[in-house]
Amino acid sequence: MSTRAPRRGATEPARILVVAPNWIGDALLAQPLLARLREQRPAVRIDVLAPDWVAPVLRRMPGVDEVIAAPLRHGALQLRERWRLGRLLRARAYDQAIVLPNSWKAALVPFFANIALRSGYVGESRYGLLNLLYRAAGAREPMALHYARLSEPPGSAPAQPLPEPRLALDSAAARATAKRFGIEGRYAVFCPGAEYGPAKRWPYFAELAARMPLPVVLLGSARDREACAGVPGLDLAGRTSLDQALELIGCAELVVSNDSGLMHVAAALERPQVALFGSSSPEHTPPLSARSRVVWLQLECSPCFARVCPLGHFRCMKELSVERALDEIARLGVLTSPAA
Ligand code: SF4
Repeated sequence: MSTRAPRRGATEPARILVVAPNWIGDALLAQPLLARLREQRPAVRIDVLAPDWVAPVLRRMPGVDEVIAAPLRHGALQLRERWRLGRLLRARAYDQAIVLPNSWKAALVPFFANIALRSGYVGESRYGLLNLLYRAAGAREPMALHYARLSEPPGSAPAQPLPEPRLALDSAAARATAKRFGIEGRYAVFCPGAEYGPAKRWPYFAELAARMPLPVVLLGSARDREACAGVPGLDLAGRTSLDQALELIGCAELVVSNDSGLMHVAAALERPQVALFGSSSPEHTPPLSARSRVVWLQLECSPCFARVCPLGHFRCMKELSVERALDEIARLGVLTSPAA
């Protein structure tokens, strides 16, 4: 492993390019890393390279100077596009790149951009592509900590507690968005989808919606339409931009979701929320907010982190009852108070 010193003088502010994760939730869990970089060097410039579908979330993160939306597709190598992008970024003379995804291709743009110091986890044997390499501290440690380690030298742990992710929201603009969709007054947001797979999708959103004393708004991407089908409420899955979904969550009295990107959005906007976990673990990717309540049965087979239940019975979600979700909602106290 070799590390080369940044080219900039010690008195000049450093310029860092962070290559963001490809999932909205992971991008939010990377925010404590960005906050730590800023604490260490207040004048640092932090630009984030992110896929189009994650960029709107990053644009609302305090401490990010610029989001560079990359015209890249999920899972595609797109070598020529990455080379072009890297060449374009050379002019920005970044001192360091921090690559958060583990893939080989994610490290290509900083390499092509001639960034001297390129750090990240070894991931897919990225020797050479990266020159400041980290090894994961343990299996499935909290994701926010996993990323925040990259603010310290390899082998060192960042001071804890870490700052929690937060997103900026213009309340007036958010209320105008709600009005545009015909939403007046108090409402709850349900997010019945989870892009990762069916093992993360709670099957009782329809029953819960039928028992809610508030109007329900359903949010998600077009791929979540099937999960939203049959759930009583205003179904906006696939009908909003990510920015609009974020604004609608920001004005909601309550958010109920699976472990998904929108769960982390609700936490970052500090909305009262109930998060329902199935095959994944709230120890690994918890919603980071004091206003979150997590429901997880923690069966002997969980977390299996599978997309589809490998045992076929899906007990981790099927046995998580509507009553249990209602209990957690009651504990939040938002449905009985005048406003949250
Ligand atoms: S194996 Fe267990 S934790 Fe995994 S999906 Fe099936 S029931 Fe859920």
